[in-house]
Amino acid sequence: MATSVNVNGIEFQPRLLINGEFVEASDKATFNVVNPATGEISCKVPEATEDDTNKAVAAAKAAQAGWAALDPTKRGACLKKLAALIRENNSTLAHLESISMGVPLSHYFHASAGADELDYFAEAWPHIQGQSSVNTPGFMTMTLRQPFGVVACIIPWNAPLYFFCGKAAAALITGNTVVLKSSEKAPLAVAFAASLIAKAGFPPGVFNVLSGHGVPSGRCLTRHMDVRALSFTGSSRTGKLIQEEAAKTNLKSVTLELGGKSPAIIFDDADIEQAISATMTSIILNSGQACIANSRLYVHKSVSQKFIEAFTQRMASVQGGNPLDASTQMGPQADEVQYKNILSYIEEGKKTGTLAVGGKGKLDSTKGYFVEPTVFLNTPEDAKIMKEEVFGPVLNINTFETEEEVIAKANDTEFGLYAAVFTKDLSRAMRMAKALESGYVGINCTSPTAGRDLPFGGYKGSGQGREGRLYSMEHFFGG
Ligand code: NAD
Repeated sequence: MATSVNVNGIEFQPRLLINGEFVEASDKATFNVVNPATGEISCKVPEATEDDTNKAVAAAKAAQAGWAALDPTKRGACLKKLAALIRENNSTLAHLESISMGVPLSHYFHASAGADELDYFAEAWPHIQGQSSVNTPGFMTMTLRQPFGVVACIIPWNAPLYFFCGKAAAALITGNTVVLKSSEKAPLAVAFAASLIAKAGFPPGVFNVLSGHGVPSGRCLTRHMDVRALSFTGSSRTGKLIQEEAAKTNLKSVTLELGGKSPAIIFDDADIEQAISATMTSIILNSGQACIANSRLYVHKSVSQKFIEAFTQRMASVQGGNPLDASTQMGPQADEVQYKNILSYIEEGKKTGTLAVGGKGKLDSTKGYFVEPTVFLNTPEDAKIMKEEVFGPVLNINTFETEEEVIAKANDTEFGLYAAVFTKDLSRAMRMAKALESGYVGINCTSPTAGRDLPFGGYKGSGQGREGRLYSMEHFFGG
């Protein structure tokens, strides 16, 4: 099987980037990346060993002092150049992402949004400032904002290039060096972006990129004594493991952006058409594989019949298709594991709620990992499918009568990433925004809509710390 892939006439061979060199895994091991739309192997990718991971951390450690001592405009210039190269290669990156995790080309925003992050952080260095004080008699005191040293970034597969750029850029501009590990489900676009790092002018060792599974390379980073900060986006299950490993080793500073089970609440005075359209987009986007997707809808009883009729009709009309076709609106699930997991949640959901739309996978007819958009009605609040993150195009609609009742239901979850409220009553909207235990509350909008300059992150089991523009930089100062 090929260890390279041809995209737009370019033959690309994924490699590990360690100390400025593109290398195979030290034991030559690879893993298969399967195109989820066809079930065929797209490419073989190096599986980084512990030895490779240790080498990448050692290279980052050796390069850090020189990088931190550089004029920050020079650090910024590397980020800017990388942003430009990523934009130039947008269509190649989109294709590589699509053949590894199934994102439709029509929806591909990861590279351009990532390049925006690189551009933003390239100019953000004037914010790296400490404080001074004359409040201690006889002394003038001050704080310094110093980098941690080596930072590890571990990213998921659902918007890889966006996380690759955003996490690394904030760590690099603050003078840290980086070892980033991509997800085993979506390593191709990240490996291609890694091939642009040297062209962007980064000195060897400053920005190292590994591909591989959680074990061994991810776990090695979480345990590494020379990694002083770790920025993670992924499932709550892995987030807990990482927190535990960090506590057992060097108490590295950990930022966690984790899962969600987001509620959207539709009151009787809402613009119903707008609410249907927004909540449907939220659960269909990326085939429901978004941490902020609204997977629990609470609709006021008096408008529920009208809402449910229109919503289910529209969900039933969504067709999965080849993500490489420009007209495709919904692609497959990321891989077989994800596909089977979603189908098992759907079977579980059939035992507790009323299936209104969908409910099947399409593996038999298409070979790809497609799941029908699925809606359940009247599911008990304590059912598994109401409590756990499905991470697919599966949604539950329940009804409510009072504000107190719906607040209690919406908050009765271990997650708290994004909640949405649809109402024309502004006072009620403000009361709800305060009452909902959620990192983000959208009023008359739902995910993915978000304020680009505001902090993003979870309440409760959805994470620790806030990311986004200035807020991401806060995680990368050890002093
Ligand atoms: P995941 O936790 O399975 O994997 C995430 C990353 O962690 C991968 O790179 C994986 O290889 C690595 N990993 C796995 N086990 C590890 C270990 N023991 N030690 C170190 N690293 C390990 O998550 P996923 O399936 O890739 O992503 C989907 C999840 O991510 C969902 O729960 C979703 O809600 C969440 N997510 C959250 C946000 C957010 O901003 N809050 C954004 C996107 C995705």
